[in-house]
Amino acid sequence: MIPVNEPLLLDAERKNVEECLRTGWISSEGTFITEFEKKWARFCGREFGVAVSNGTVALDAAAWALRLEPGSEVIVPTFTIISCVIAIVRNGLVPVLVDADADTWCMDVREVAGKVTPKTRAIMPVHIYGHPVDMDPLLELARTKNLRIIEDAAEVHGAEYKGKKCGGFGDVSAFSFYANKLITTGEGGMVLTDDPELAERLQSYRNLCFRKERRFYHTELGTNYRLTNLQAAIGSAQVDRIDDIVEKKRAMGTMYSDLLAGCKYLQLPVEKSWAKNVYWMYGIVLDEASGLNAVDFAALLLKEGIHTRPFFLGMHEQPVFLNRGLFRGEKYPVAERLARQGLYLPSALTITPEQIKTVATTVKRLLS
Ligand SMILES: *Cc1c(COP(=O)(O)O)cnc(C)c1O
Repeated sequence: MIPVNEPLLLDAERKNVEECLRTGWISSEGTFITEFEKKWARFCGREFGVAVSNGTVALDAAAWALRLEPGSEVIVPTFTIISCVIAIVRNGLVPVLVDADADTWCMDVREVAGKVTPKTRAIMPVHIYGHPVDMDPLLELARTKNLRIIEDAAEVHGAEYKGKKCGGFGDVSAFSFYANKLITTGEGGMVLTDDPELAERLQSYRNLCFRKERRFYHTELGTNYRLTNLQAAIGSAQVDRIDDIVEKKRAMGTMYSDLLAGCKYLQLPVEKSWAKNVYWMYGIVLDEASGLNAVDFAALLLKEGIHTRPFFLGMHEQPVFLNRGLFRGEKYPVAERLARQGLYLPSALTITPEQIKTVATTVKRLLS
């Protein structure tokens, strides 16, 4: 099978994991945790990294750490994974949606200012499928309106906005290291920040808010979001290869784009002049004039032995939120079209040039 989103694990990861097993450091104590946090923070140009169990709880911890008063509004794209809105809602905050940009599929930053109210306290930009959000308008708005930025960088390890690494833009910035992300720990996540106070709050939160000076004495409600040394051992070895990984993904993206250029009925991923796209997943959007939607096209590809994955379904179309009275009657036409017409092609780090050619040739044949 042509690999869709499988990880690439090598001997360095195995060696690190064996060290954990040999020494018995398999819980959340152990040197790989701090090594992994330091390496990843340094790579992203940040002061502090706090490793947690996954990307979803990284967003939750990030939102928690900001101490926004309950009922505060957070502006977030509708075209994203549910983790973003879970983090907002679970912290007693109110999600306010914006549509996607038709080119980058990231939040349409032109819509954000119009959504700011006296209750707005934060913006949660989400970089989508490897391409950065246009950050400058958001940073400017955050400065003038005194808003915090909760950055979701789970899909853009190594991507850049105007030469600066994604994950470098939030008061708090969240990563996932799930097995299909650019670098992985199996399950895992991290929050980055430059603020020592926020870093300390995050460390405390992930570990039940134990007090340093007196254990089993608590002044805040924490949780257990700890990452294990075993997982960090994998992550640490992966960070060492991040440049290679980014290069591989970009080669995959460029090759797909070259092969599919000019293909009728097909919108391909972009790379804006201010962006470095890492093509986490190579997405395509079918023109409605093709008479096909993403479900139809995925079925055709599957018949040819090619597995794909659908795009996100917008948060305003999720029963879980509509049932809570959120987003009722709201319409986001770009996100709705992306959800129906978009899918991503096999994009694993282990995919070969021959396999990319096979996929591209098949896509072209089916659309001709
Ligand atoms: C994967 C992902 C997450 C969640 O990460 P998990 O580790 O799977 O919990 C959050 N945000 C985005 C944009 C993601 O792609």
